[in-house]
Amino acid sequence: MVQNKNTAVYLSVVIPVYNEEECLETMYQRLTAVLDKIKKPTEIIFTNDGSKDRSSEILKEFHERRPHQIRVIEFNGNFGQHMAIMAAFERARGEVIINLDADLQNPPEEIPRFLKKYEEGYDYIGSIRDNRKDSYILRSLPSKMLNKLRGKVTDIHITDQGCMMRLYARRIVDLITQCDESSTFITALGYRFAINPTELVIRHDAREEGESKYDAYRLIRVTFDLFTGFSMAPLHVFTVFGFIVSALSGLLVAYMIGRRLIIGPEAEGLFTLFAILFFLVSVAITGIGIVGEYVGRIYEVVRKRPRFLIKEVLDTEPLVQLDTVKRKEK
Ligand code: UDP
Ligand code: MG
Repeated sequence: MVQNKNTAVYLSVVIPVYNEEECLETMYQRLTAVLDKIKKPTEIIFTNDGSKDRSSEILKEFHERRPHQIRVIEFNGNFGQHMAIMAAFERARGEVIINLDADLQNPPEEIPRFLKKYEEGYDYIGSIRDNRKDSYILRSLPSKMLNKLRGKVTDIHITDQGCMMRLYARRIVDLITQCDESSTFITALGYRFAINPTELVIRHDAREEGESKYDAYRLIRVTFDLFTGFSMAPLHVFTVFGFIVSALSGLLVAYMIGRRLIIGPEAEGLFTLFAILFFLVSVAITGIGIVGEYVGRIYEVVRKRPRFLIKEVLDTEPLVQLDTVKRKEK
C-alpha cells in the first residue's frame, strides 16, 4: 500500500464545482452518508472553479462542518473542469482517488462498487453511463460518434469518454499530476498510465438542479483537447489529403497542356473551376485551423504560465486514526 505524505487517507473524493449552489447540499448529504459507512479514513476535495453564485460560501461552510475531512480549493477564475480536477489531484492524499461531478448525475452511492473493483486489483476503473439522461440529439449522439472516432484515431480505448466518475489508484494520479500540459483530458490521461484498467456500468441521473456548464463551443474545445492531446491523426490525414490532391492536380495540368497543344485553349467550365477552387481553399483553411490547434497548445506549454491560479485553500490536517498510527509503529 502506498502512503502519501505521512497520512493514512484511504479514499479521496474529488469534485469540481462551477455554479452549483442548488446541488451542493444534497450532494453533501448523499456523499457523506456513503463515506461514513466506509470504515477507513476518507476525504473530500472540492475545487471551486470560479463560481459566480453562492457555491464558494456553501463550500466554506462544508469545510467548517467537517474541517478534517472536507478540503476546498478556491480558484481565482474559471479554468475548466479538467484543471479543477488536476488541482485537487495535486493535493489528494488518498491511496485511491475517485472523481465525481457536483450535479449528482453520477450517484455517490456507486462509490462502494468502485472500491470493491479496486480491491480486486484494478488500478483504473472507468465508467459507462447506463441509459444516459442527457439530450439525445445535442449530447448523447455526438458523444457516441466522437467515442467511435476517438477509438479509431487514438489508442485510448474507453467506452464513454465523457463520464467523469472514475477511480484512479495513487500511482496513476501521481503520473497525471507530473504532466505539465495546460489543456488535457484527465480520463484519457489516466487510461494511458493504467496497468490494469476496467470499466463499470453505472447509473446516470438527469440533472435535477441548475444546467449543464457545457455549451456547443466548450464541447468543441474539450473535444480538440482530447484529439490533439492524444493523436497526430488530424495532421496526418491532412498531409495525405494534400498529397492526393497535388497528384491529381498535376495530372490535370498535364492534361490541360496536352489539350491546349492539340485542340487549343478552352474557356468554358468556369464555374466548375470556381467550385473546385472554393473547395480547395476551404480545405486549406481547415488545415491551418488544425495546425493552429496544435500550435496554440504548444504555445501555452512553452509560455510556462501556471495552468490555474489558486486564491485560497481551506485545509486542516486529517485526524490520523489511532489504529492506523499503531499499525505504522509496528
Ligand atoms: N465544471 C467545472 N468547471 C467548468 C465546467 C464544469 O468545474 O468550467 C464542473 C461542474 O460543476 C460539474 C462538472 O464539472 O461538477 C460537470 O459539468 P456539467 O454537469 O455541466 O457537464 P455535463 O454533465 O453536462 O457534461
Ligand atoms: Mg452534469
